[in-house]
Amino acid sequence: MNGPLNDTICAIATPIGEGGVGIVRISGEKAVDVAASLVALRSGVPLASAASHALQHADILDPTDSTGRTPLDEALVAVMRGPKSYTGEDVVELQCHGGMVILRTICEVLARAGARLAEPGEFTKRAFLNGRLDLAQAEAVLDTIRAKTAGSLRIAQEQLRGALSHEIDAVRETLIGLLAHVEAGIDFVEEDIAFIPTDELTAGLHLAHGAVSRLLAHSREGRILREGVTAAIIGRPNVGKSSLLNALLKTDRAIVTAIPGTTRDVLEEVLNIRGIALRLLDTAGIRDTADPVEQEGVRRSRAAQEQADLVLIVLDGSAPLTEEDRSLLREACSHEDQKRLVVVNKTDLPIRLDPTLLSFEKPDCAVVKISAKTGYGLDDLRDRIRMLLLRPDFESRETVLVTHLRHQTALWRTLDALTAVLASVEAKAAGELIAMDLRAAIDALGEITGAVSTDDILDRIFREFCIGK
Ligand code: GDP
Repeated sequence: MNGPLNDTICAIATPIGEGGVGIVRISGEKAVDVAASLVALRSGVPLASAASHALQHADILDPTDSTGRTPLDEALVAVMRGPKSYTGEDVVELQCHGGMVILRTICEVLARAGARLAEPGEFTKRAFLNGRLDLAQAEAVLDTIRAKTAGSLRIAQEQLRGALSHEIDAVRETLIGLLAHVEAGIDFVEEDIAFIPTDELTAGLHLAHGAVSRLLAHSREGRILREGVTAAIIGRPNVGKSSLLNALLKTDRAIVTAIPGTTRDVLEEVLNIRGIALRLLDTAGIRDTADPVEQEGVRRSRAAQEQADLVLIVLDGSAPLTEEDRSLLREACSHEDQKRLVVVNKTDLPIRLDPTLLSFEKPDCAVVKISAKTGYGLDDLRDRIRMLLLRPDFESRETVLVTHLRHQTALWRTLDALTAVLASVEAKAAGELIAMDLRAAIDALGEITGAVSTDDILDRIFREFCIGK
């Protein structure tokens, strides 16, 4: 993504495929000139004189038609003059019919007229480089597009409106103020100018330390809400895994995506359980009860279990515990960083499962009784899953949520640097040393909003985007 900023870029901004409307976006110094090569406004006004931020009825001309009489398509065209546009540059959007031939042909014509096909995320990268968005807000654009639950959308929108950036900037400003005092002290040490009193410096540092700690307090939950969690339903054949999956899918299905490239495409199902996106691993394996190769099933279920953040171990309540159940339970309980729930199914039938197991319950391994057939206990199961993933005090938090690993690690580094500054102040260390750690804290905070950024950070963030955003 090294294109010079002053060139003009274009891309199809809507998903590939057929659609009622398809949008081509153009941004850059020559956006209007380039678009004018194929846009004829019905009003007869030249595109260069068209009003900004208004939709115009237009024909998209077919450049291969020498008579110029048969347009390629009819469209609505919006010119948005910079700097009040998404990228901060001149932007033109062509809203045509959503057919691939139309959209591709338009991009080809635009490329011949001098535009370059945009890299993934390049429009948003330009918005950032032109100061329309900061980096945390740019990331929130992608979160908004990818949100799988109403809750994660709300958090993304909060971040897009600048709630996180505002808090980060406030702490950063405090630290920059303290640094100025500390540096003044270093510069004027010979003139005996009293730099900031120690207790004032310490108080400021504690304030910043507290604010960063509060932001970090719920960042684990923030990431769960944004990213969702991976979950595996495991259990021996016939305990009711696919019945449970189907019962939950009936009401909680969030999205279905086929992941191509596997011998038989793996179906990824995402459940929306009490606002948390639960990505179920290897649902093809769960459903494929007629799989003749038992070994393969076991291997796949084990692989899914290894990767999961949450494991639901399903047992058949209407049958005594088998050796296979025991070994599954033992294995599931051996993963320390995994959450797990024992789900006793078929409780609509007479219970024959070991009663000591039914009453066996530890904080890290709760037992839920359900019937996939009647739906009994499913609400309880949903509550338990949410309780397992989000702490009870989560709802009453007072700060904005940190939802990205990138932000979380920058905040950890800030906290480490602030701890070092506090220790140096306590030890009456040299001003230079205090200033150095303070600068590290300020820079780490700056990475979150992009006040401090490198090409490497930007590339990593924007390559996640789709083309046209
Ligand atoms: P899987 O092999 O673990 O995926 O098990 P299935 O979901 O295919 O279920 C195995 C059998 O148990 C099927 O005949 C289901 O109808 C039955 N079954 C599943 N859940 C229940 C339940 O809650 N109650 C009763 N009575 N039967 C169930």
